Amino acid sequence: EDLVIGIDVGGTNMRSALVDPRGRIVLQSRTATGAWLEGRETARRLIEECRSLRLAASGFGAAVRAAGLGVAGRIDPREGRVVFSPNLPRMNGYPLAAELRTALDLPVVMLNDADCFGIGESRLGAGRSIPNWVGLTLGTGVGGCLVLDNHLWTGDNLGFAGEIGHMIVVPGGRPCACGARGCLEAYASGRALVEGFLEAAATGAPVAGIEQRPLEPAKVAARDVHRLALQGDPLAREVFRRMGWAIGLALSNCFTVLGVRHAVIGGGVSAGWDQFEGALVVSLAEHATMFEAADAVIRRGVLGDDAAPLGAALAAWRQLGHGA
Ligand code: BGC
Ligand code: ZN
Repeated sequence: EDLVIGIDVGGTNMRSALVDPRGRIVLQSRTATGAWLEGRETARRLIEECRSLRLAASGFGAAVRAAGLGVAGRIDPREGRVVFSPNLPRMNGYPLAAELRTALDLPVVMLNDADCFGIGESRLGAGRSIPNWVGLTLGTGVGGCLVLDNHLWTGDNLGFAGEIGHMIVVPGGRPCACGARGCLEAYASGRALVEGFLEAAATGAPVAGIEQRPLEPAKVAARDVHRLALQGDPLAREVFRRMGWAIGLALSNCFTVLGVRHAVIGGGVSAGWDQFEGALVVSLAEHATMFEAADAVIRRGVLGDDAAPLGAALAAWRQLGHGA
């Protein structure tokens, strides 16, 4: 049997999965990433993971034919290079796909991580029966993708398209990892939740009945802010509301520009859905111009963490001539 490897290099984790031709994950592994991670070290770890997945595959009589690689940033698909990653800055300029290709002696196709999410959800998940939709991934950063006429829109092949996370929603607003101010990512990413919460908590009054707020900034994660919001902490709830407001504004702009009315939202931070959905819907209606807010359909992704590695694997299968 033939298999491919689908890889998702995100701002906090990277995952590699052995995937069969029907898009099923046979085996997978995960390791940590972060702003500290060098391109070379990333390549070293991925090569190691791919080698052990390959070994495992041969253990059950299968062979790995190709790899698909999704990376959190702008990429140069032809040279197999990371051009610019806001949240993995030490990867900028690094020829990650090219290195994997040489070390593993396999065809390696490189994409943006949110585009991999788009392929995964449109072929196997929440976008399956929807020809036109806008995708958002809420994680360390905010990724975006455009599925138009059932195809992932890749623009003019500049190595980016649908970078909705860097749509400016507040001119002159909060600084974003990309260097600009007021991007959606600065309000709707995991990082934004943590930073926004810590800022508010530094000035906000303690709340009776709330477990002590985590005050060691380096140790606070988006899921802590989510937990506090679930416990009723007003500051945590407020940062989630602001997140929903920003997403509603960005989606409203996308819908107006594209004439599309469906969105699929995924990524680890979408676990906080119940905390931001209400504000998102209100904001979408408030900012709706050419479309009827009631026509808009906002869904959650259904593939969870698997969407991007699966999408990367499907791109690898396509490169091999399997699938549309
Ligand atoms: C990057 C995107 C990426 C997203 C999610 C953003 O900061 O610009 O390319 O898809 O983070 O990882
Ligand atoms: Zn930005």
